[in-house]
Amino acid sequence: MNFVIIGGDAAGMSAASRAKRRNPDMEVIVLEQTKDVSYSACGMPYNIADPERDIDDLIVRQPTVFREKQGIDLRTGHRVEAIDPGKGTVKGRTLDGGPFQVEFDELLIATGASALIPDLPGFDLPGVMSLKSLEDGRRIKRFIKEHRVKQAVIIGMGYIALEMSEALRTRGIEVVLIKPNPLFLPWMHEKLSRAVREEMEAKGVQLYPGHEVKGIEQGDSRLRVICADRALEAQMVLVAIGVQPNSGVAQDAGIALSIANSVAVDRGLLTSKSHIYAAGDCADAYHVVTGEKTWIPLALRANRAGWAVADTVTGKAVTLPGVAGTAVFKVFDLEVAHTGLTVEEAAEHGFEPVEMTIQGRTRAHAHPGGSSIGVHMVGDRKSGRLLGVQMVGREGAAHRIDAPAVALHGKMTVEEFVQCDLAYAPPFSPVWDPMLTAANQLLKSL
Ligand SMILES: Cc1cc2nc3c(=O)[nH]c(=O)nc-3n(C[C@H](O)[C@H](O)[C@H](O)COP(=O)(O)OP(=O)(O)OC[C@H]3O[C@@H](n4cnc5c(N)ncnc54)[C@H](O)[C@@H]3O)c2cc1C
Repeated sequence: MNFVIIGGDAAGMSAASRAKRRNPDMEVIVLEQTKDVSYSACGMPYNIADPERDIDDLIVRQPTVFREKQGIDLRTGHRVEAIDPGKGTVKGRTLDGGPFQVEFDELLIATGASALIPDLPGFDLPGVMSLKSLEDGRRIKRFIKEHRVKQAVIIGMGYIALEMSEALRTRGIEVVLIKPNPLFLPWMHEKLSRAVREEMEAKGVQLYPGHEVKGIEQGDSRLRVICADRALEAQMVLVAIGVQPNSGVAQDAGIALSIANSVAVDRGLLTSKSHIYAAGDCADAYHVVTGEKTWIPLALRANRAGWAVADTVTGKAVTLPGVAGTAVFKVFDLEVAHTGLTVEEAAEHGFEPVEMTIQGRTRAHAHPGGSSIGVHMVGDRKSGRLLGVQMVGREGAAHRIDAPAVALHGKMTVEEFVQCDLAYAPPFSPVWDPMLTAANQLLKSL
């Protein structure tokens, strides 16, 4: 019995390692189109910030380790172009163009996502780049060094754009961010979003929300990002407007797709075809708050889904509860964290959302070193359930968010959350943690 995996990063290599650990006799074949496997994409902005660090430090495990120590048949430079679910085969081409075909008993599609690149003039010019793969990271680092980049424009204001702003500013590069939506962080409560915006501006980043990019031109020595009312000059342009699932091969094989064209899977990660699973950024998931399908491309759920498929194909059927959309990122000296639904999302899913925003302290009164933390909380008037939380602070937001995330998984009411026995000591929080204060305030308006 063999297990074939398409894609050799978070979901794919987690699945391969887990399957081999649970059943060393199983033949596990991984087909990865690039030469890189098992690296921390999430670490790339921080690595790019430091010219002394080799970007290959982000490789968690080298291909030779998978092959020689774990016995995984890892074939890099193998791009899968077609799946035949009836015959149980995948076909494709190697990097040198040679065709290959592999038979499978169980198949995992773990093809991830690709950066969105708008179909506009100039987005293929040298110096216009995106950051998704390790090779993208290498290219960006090399470009900054060789061209002594001093000015960059980032198109987009998602978390990768924000992390890259910090990385580039750390290297002394002037950074301008631009996007069409006039709202800076549209999913975030206005008060919290303002704090992030002020932090970025204080660190020298120029923000132009509400400007649609029409194209990019090559000037004499600089690229020109063209908008209706201005042109921004830069040596380098980073396109960070989001990602789309790599689901084309699945779709061509007649496998059903779902939200945002991600591969539709059940709670056991099975696609619409038997013996074919999908996991990670290419696949959808259930949202633990709404119970409906969602597509949230993040790392933990990719690793977890890869594990789950490996467990299932090695005889221990696993089903996953789903995701809460918990995420955290750093913007210079701020921690930005969120989990669950926004007010708008809650209303769209039939809840009667009530919101509360408070400003608290990260440490006990009079304890040195504390700072302000903003907490925004959403509850449902009908059921009393906690629906979502956002936090922004100089410390303590990143790990605090895990408490409400667990509460969302437990489908707790705000009242139940208020009664949770959370840890307290002066260096870490006030007796009433700002999260509990927000929940207490929210309870009054539910
Ligand atoms: C800059 C950056 C920062 C990030 N930061 C965070 C963070 O802080 N926290 C977080 O949770 N997430 C973060 N992410 C997202 C996280 O990296 C992804 O959610 C995770 O890598 C998804 O894993 P995956 O295995 O599903 O897909 P991928 O990592 O995209 O891997 C898919 C693999 O499949 C291969 N492949 C695709 N098509 C084929 C084919 N036809 N044949 C063969 N191989 C194929 C690709 O080459 C790739 O190696 C970040 C991503 C980026 C780019």
